[in-house]
Amino acid sequence: MSAVVIDGAAIAEELRTRVDEELHVLRLSEVRPGLGTVLAGEDPGALAYERHVRRLAEGLEYHYVHEHLPADVEVADVLATIGKLNADPRVTGVLVLRPLPSHLPEADVNAIVDPRKDIEGQHPENAGLLALGRPRFVPSTPASCFYLLDSYVRSIGEDPHAYYTGKTIVVVGRSASVGKPAQWLGLERDATVIACHSRTAAAGRLGEFTRMADVLIVAAGVRGLVTGDMVREGVIAVDVGFHVLKDEVTGRTTMVGDLDFDEVAAKAAAITPVPGGVGPVTDVWLIGNSLVAAALAARIEPRFGTDG
Ligand code: NAD
Repeated sequence: MSAVVIDGAAIAEELRTRVDEELHVLRLSEVRPGLGTVLAGEDPGALAYERHVRRLAEGLEYHYVHEHLPADVEVADVLATIGKLNADPRVTGVLVLRPLPSHLPEADVNAIVDPRKDIEGQHPENAGLLALGRPRFVPSTPASCFYLLDSYVRSIGEDPHAYYTGKTIVVVGRSASVGKPAQWLGLERDATVIACHSRTAAAGRLGEFTRMADVLIVAAGVRGLVTGDMVREGVIAVDVGFHVLKDEVTGRTTMVGDLDFDEVAAKAAAITPVPGGVGPVTDVWLIGNSLVAAALAARIEPRFGTDG
């Protein structure tokens, strides 16, 4: 079988058109989105992502505020900084960049963000709403997985509202930002969802479950974790993993994911590549969530969501 490579860049462009239309409509109602980012420390990935988000925000002429705190910042100062953004009416969405320095309690930080400005959907209220199938904000990475899947499903002439019913979706990874919300989104689509994680692998049972997948979503952060022998013929495979490899001789960098792309593609019906799969859609989804937050601040019913 030769897999369809799902083109994340093209699908992101199409989603971007929808988001731009939504922004246009909101601007007609005098809604002015604003974004506040908080970064503690000097993690290179977080710094790079902040620059990226800033460019996105500035390109859309958002009001943009960035709070950069030292790596040894006190918990109380982080919470106060987020509180300041919560209280600023020009900031309609708040994004806390990860990873946080290890002394900062992730749960406390998530819980202090105003739930109506929480564009990554990490506040317990938003996580609860999503788990109950009544999302306010769908976290951008798992939302993108399903946006890519739905787009592929439509391309083969199937209806995404019915396609997953009774199918087996296996999610590898159970983080609060990717794995768990992906599981909840799968359940909402009436799939049978199997949740695997590091202990599944430690028990030597990962392949046993991944081989059951009609749809496989891998978000483990382990390069090349899923190999050809761990999937069945015809699987639809979504690779969330993102790893930058540097060639020490040439200095050139390449990006790879959690799937052994060539081996899985040889058996799959469809597969997302790295780069150019989940990443570009995630970016646009984050902008969409920022519009939801801006609409909520203006007491307008947001239109952007999970319906594809
Ligand atoms: P995380 O470290 O918070 O969680 C990883 C999860 O994978 C955990 O639940 C863990 O139990 C599980 N896991 C670890 N090793 C495993 C193994 N050997 N077998 C099975 N499960 C295992 O990571 P995260 O934030 O969920 O991100 C996962 C990956 O996705 C990372 O590579 C990250 O860079 C990438 N990511 C990509 C995007 C994007 O937009 N493309 C966004 C977020 C994260």
